[in-house]
Amino acid sequence: MTTTVAFIGLGHMGGPMAANLVSAGYRVLGHDLVESCLSAAVAAGVEAARSAVEAAAVADVVITMLPAGRHVLSLYGPEGLLAAARPGTLFVDCSTIDVADSRAAHAAAEAAGHRSLDAPVSGGVVGAEAGTLTFMAGGEESAFAQAEPLLAVMGKKAVHCGDAGAGQAAKICNNMILGVSMIAVSEAFVLAESLGLADQALYDVASAASGQCWALTVNCPVPGPVPASPANRDYRPGFAAPLMAKDLQLAANALRAGGIDAELGLRAAELYARFAEGPGADQDFSGIVRAIRAATSNPTDTQKGSTT
Ligand code: NAD
Repeated sequence: MTTTVAFIGLGHMGGPMAANLVSAGYRVLGHDLVESCLSAAVAAGVEAARSAVEAAAVADVVITMLPAGRHVLSLYGPEGLLAAARPGTLFVDCSTIDVADSRAAHAAAEAAGHRSLDAPVSGGVVGAEAGTLTFMAGGEESAFAQAEPLLAVMGKKAVHCGDAGAGQAAKICNNMILGVSMIAVSEAFVLAESLGLADQALYDVASAASGQCWALTVNCPVPGPVPASPANRDYRPGFAAPLMAKDLQLAANALRAGGIDAELGLRAAELYARFAEGPGADQDFSGIVRAIRAATSNPTDTQKGSTT
């Protein structure tokens, strides 16, 4: 019997993910508040549902791909998807949301007699279109096993990270490493430039030494050393700065909730929030190197706060 999937949230990520499920032979009932998102999905073979609740009522699996935790919790909530679905329906939330919101969503789904998995992704729109996303999943082993065939259609790798919320935890911890390391690599290039050291020379040394990391060797923030990095195309994303700012904010929420003394993670969240609200609004997150360079080239900026 064909598995019926309700897919709620057919935006940049959800649209192509739902289309890949259709191509693999699943019956997909989709819903989005934005008409153009829904009609693009319908063109790819998704059946339009009049509401998210209508789709969930007949589904074996409900997948959500929404902007934030409040969207997931309000859709799950009273008179929502959990009440409409048949008992034992599998709920898979692929959105990137707060760990606390994710755990609340799991608890609500289980209290309503359903199965639940958090399964945020990395790989961006390109990965969603190509079906090469990486899923980081949290929830019971049996829920992960049931979701695996669908995740295998939409992605190239799925890692079961642990209990409820573990997928979200893995996502924000990884992206906190990435955000902090991109700032560190960018600051190092700006320092090198001020010391008269060529970008390529720093790259040649650091990429073969202990400074080696993804932010340097794959997404290098200066043009030249890594031809495929966004720096070579005027910082067009790639991984957009506002998404990095969002993920670091989620990490900062969890750091504060846990009382963790993580000065760099919290500072990275501040720096990316400022960058994403300003010049980085439509840039790759590696464009932060230009903000660092711009602030550095103006001595009055660098001396702010100095009394001497
Ligand atoms: P998006 O804004 O393009 O899509 C979200 C969709 O949800 C929108 O089309 C919106 O209309 C819809 N929506 C909101 N509330 C709804 C409701 N009540 N009912 C039905 N539809 C509703 O966002 P996106 O880029 O697709 O990202 C989705 C999630 O994936 C986010 O949590 C994001 O952080 C995460 N993510 C995005 C990327 C990326 O590169 N875009 C990468 C990794 C993870």
